[in-house]
Amino acid sequence: MPDLVTHTAAAYFLSRHRCFQRYRVLFYLGTILPDILARPIHIIFPQLYFYSVAIHTPIFMAIFTLFFSEFFRKDRWAVVKFLGAGIVVHFALDLLQKHLAAGYYWFFPFSWKSFEIGLFWPEDFVSLIPLWCVLVLAAEILQRLKEHSSHRTA
Ligand SMILES: [Zn+2]
Repeated sequence: MPDLVTHTAAAYFLSRHRCFQRYRVLFYLGTILPDILARPIHIIFPQLYFYSVAIHTPIFMAIFTLFFSEFFRKDRWAVVKFLGAGIVVHFALDLLQKHLAAGYYWFFPFSWKSFEIGLFWPEDFVSLIPLWCVLVLAAEILQRLKEHSSHRTA
């Protein structure tokens, strides 16, 4: 997995469009959700490896998203859409990396074959965390300066 900072930075840059404005938090949550659900179980209870592997799969996350959306009465479809989009972005980034052992089981429970494109090692993303932080900070400062100047001229 790329680290959570990399996933969040990707969410930041992908959610700049105005259509994300109301549900940006759900999109952010989706981009880290597979890891924050699966990793604690993997770390605390390593003997439950196959359960934590099953959590980090598209089918589990789709079921989780549908279940989670049931807590929202009015915006149920928006929750599914934005949380689901974040999860898709998460899995897209995970797909780019490579592992020494088996990677992610995209077609669980129908197949135990793992597949990754294999462009990066997981630790490659960690070395880029300072870059992501600077880019997000710079983009946010530019955005706020732009908003501030447009308020002054209006
Ligand atoms: Zn992941």
